[in-house]
Amino acid sequence: KKRNPHEYEFHQAAKEIFDSLIPIFAKYPKYIEHNILERISEPERMITFRVPWVDDQGNVQVNRGFRVQFSSSIGPYKGGLRFHPSVNASIIKFLGFEQVFKNSLTGLPIGGGKGGSDFDPKGKSDGEVMRFTQSFMSELYRHIGQDIDVPAGDIGVGAREIGYLFGQYKKIRGGYEAGILTGKAPIYGGSPARPEATGYGTVYFVEEMLADKGVGFKDSTVVVSGSGNVSIYAIEKAYQLGAKVIACSDSNGYVYDPNGIKLDTVKRLKEIERRRISDYVLEHPEAEYYEGCTGIWSIPCDIALPCATQNEIDEASAKTLVENGVKAIGEGANMPSTLEAIDVFLDNKVLFGPAKAANAGGVAVSALEMSQNSMRMTWTFEEVDEKLQSIMKNIYQNSVQAAEEFGQPDNLVMGANIAGFIKVADAMIAQGVI
Ligand code: NDP
Repeated sequence: KKRNPHEYEFHQAAKEIFDSLIPIFAKYPKYIEHNILERISEPERMITFRVPWVDDQGNVQVNRGFRVQFSSSIGPYKGGLRFHPSVNASIIKFLGFEQVFKNSLTGLPIGGGKGGSDFDPKGKSDGEVMRFTQSFMSELYRHIGQDIDVPAGDIGVGAREIGYLFGQYKKIRGGYEAGILTGKAPIYGGSPARPEATGYGTVYFVEEMLADKGVGFKDSTVVVSGSGNVSIYAIEKAYQLGAKVIACSDSNGYVYDPNGIKLDTVKRLKEIERRRISDYVLEHPEAEYYEGCTGIWSIPCDIALPCATQNEIDEASAKTLVENGVKAIGEGANMPSTLEAIDVFLDNKVLFGPAKAANAGGVAVSALEMSQNSMRMTWTFEEVDEKLQSIMKNIYQNSVQAAEEFGQPDNLVMGANIAGFIKVADAMIAQGVI
């Protein structure tokens, strides 16, 4: 805290990990001898830069760009870019730190990074988004490379933004380095199933947790926050497994549809027309719309999938979910539950799939996109989906195994953190003090 004042989100992410790791230091003193904790929590590199651009009125605007290259111990830096007005150094560092352990958990050779800007794409024209994005890449290009650092999407960065970023990188560098970014459209080197991967993967992970208790998504009632990339495909997969999704949201409010959220409407409103979720009730008057985000957690459900943003479930919301009988939580978003909320879930024996494990499917398929780009070939949707399912199963099993080894079999927060940490820490020791 002394070294990183005001970085509240980073402190929160670090505390969660440090608390989980306490038992391994007694068993494996080598991690203390090599001072791994202090080294692993300092990014290898943190880049901040100016992003000037011209809006449609001809005014010159300036935003701040970030890229944190946190760890390259097991592979090139890998992690998304977030465009959202709340972005600052603390948010980028917390996301980059989490990414190190998540990427290790996938079992694939990728290090951890993250980036973004405080640019707000909401209400901007395509031309403004393109000019901003080109300016952003005009600085970022010198720090990335397919064997160095491979960015992808996150909040506010979807197929449109990745396309503009890719085009600008290609223009500056010349040549065609398909593997420089992931999340590309399949027509120019993207992987099938990448848009679906995080949402589907979260549901596959929760299905594994439920299967261990002899239940599943089938016939359950589900609440999913957000209505972006992760949420839409979590909703889709939950339906495919026989569940009913009764609510979703955006940053203004949430809709409750007791008959089941109509996914086609949500997809069209959010993916194509870029409208607000409040418009859902214009087409489905039987549904109800409420202003504000946290109210969504007062809707009784069997499974809750927070898929919007950090700290969206606080202690009070967690208690309400528990009182209403929630059985499982799957974190599709990064750090959506506060530390106090996680304690409420674990203390009440709610099955809890932490973000690092539950939402790792997105970056895993990004790594598969890198493999396909290197091989200059494309797998089918079914092939990628099959690999995704097996990766999510392995992540679940490795997390359970680590939790069991350290005496807390139901604590997947601890299990995922330990399983992710050990591989990176051992690689750091093998590579010496660098
Ligand atoms: P999108 O931008 O596609 O969607 C984000 C959704 O969350 C939107 O519905 C948005 O509403 C809502 N939202 C954003 N900020 C807030 C806020 N402060 N309060 C309430 N709601 C908010 O992003 P993604 O779906 O890609 O990302 C969602 C989460 O999943 C993030 O935490 C991200 O880090 C995480 N994640 C994403 C991965 C991916 O592959 N995309 C991979 C792993 C994790 P609005 O439209 O009003 O902005």
